[in-house]
Amino acid sequence: MRYVDEFRDPQLAGRLIEHIQAVARRPVRLMEFCGSHTHAIFRFGLRQAMGPNVIMRAGPGCPVCVTSSADLDRALALAGMPNVIITTFGDMMRVPGRRGTLQEARARGSDVRVVYSPMDALRLALENPRSHVIFLGVGFETTAPAVAATMYQAHARGVPNFSVFSVHKLTPPATRAVLDAGEVALDGILGPGHVSAIIGSNAWRFLPEEYGIPCAVAGFEPLDILQGIAALVESVVEGRPGVFNAYGRGVQPEGNPTALAMLERVFQVADAEWRGFGIIPASGLKIRPAFADYDAERRFPVQVERAGEPPGCRCGEVLRGVLEPYDCPLFRRVCTPQHPVGPCMVSAEGACSAYYLYGGEPA
Ligand code: SF4
Repeated sequence: MRYVDEFRDPQLAGRLIEHIQAVARRPVRLMEFCGSHTHAIFRFGLRQAMGPNVIMRAGPGCPVCVTSSADLDRALALAGMPNVIITTFGDMMRVPGRRGTLQEARARGSDVRVVYSPMDALRLALENPRSHVIFLGVGFETTAPAVAATMYQAHARGVPNFSVFSVHKLTPPATRAVLDAGEVALDGILGPGHVSAIIGSNAWRFLPEEYGIPCAVAGFEPLDILQGIAALVESVVEGRPGVFNAYGRGVQPEGNPTALAMLERVFQVADAEWRGFGIIPASGLKIRPAFADYDAERRFPVQVERAGEPPGCRCGEVLRGVLEPYDCPLFRRVCTPQHPVGPCMVSAEGACSAYYLYGGEPA
């Protein structure tokens, strides 16, 4: 398949792995920010292939996983209101909050539906004028532009029964939070490809300039990831931190100006609560007052108590890179994809699910 097979060439992958092994003469500690990278690294066996000197840690790049318990409880409270249809992407359905999951809320009679895009939610609002449709805006810079465009359209068409509960989050502030916490020693960051297609590779320049470590933006096929890791390992060993774009077919230095303009028009940057981190300053996207009619938080304010992690769950430490999923006592014994205790086991981008599906036994 074009654009896939050519980035899975086993001979080229083998050469890149030999190169990485030859350059990594000492341990190099890297974090892959993005949960899709974690899954791809495990699925293609790259960790084991690169050898013990390339130490990879999963980061907080799973939007479902970092959605706070309090925000999940707010979504559940919204689902309990009469004449409301909650729409969401599938992964959110099974994430446990203090009042259960959205799936359980649906079983109790709430109208909760899985959609494949925010435009599907807007369409549902047009088809159900007697109900109010709320879209759960969970995601990073990758998904937020489509949500902004949908709100812009709803506003332009004057749709009265559609709103968004925005818990969108921004990835560079979370990367700063990981580094500022100093809980895990890192020599470099494998930057998220899809996010960087929106914000641009230049958005990561603060890593070499302020933290003295390199960042390599990479796509999600094995050769993309290996090229990114090769650039990071070379940079660390040679002591010349910089930003490297190993995803040239998708990422421009300045990002996508159309998507960025749409984000700017509809959203404003605000503090946000992340699971495992607490409040990270200027790390979220809230809806501008000009679009207040489409802001579910303004239209339906709900109060919830602060909520912690599910008992025994170590997702917070996994998301900060402090622990590996193997270190959680519940991993595989109690917590499995069939019976997840925390969001990192639910989500298709969650580190615990990657380790469970492809990780084998801990080394
Ligand atoms: S294995 Fe389960 S309980 Fe443990 S951190 Fe991961 S999601 Fe939470």
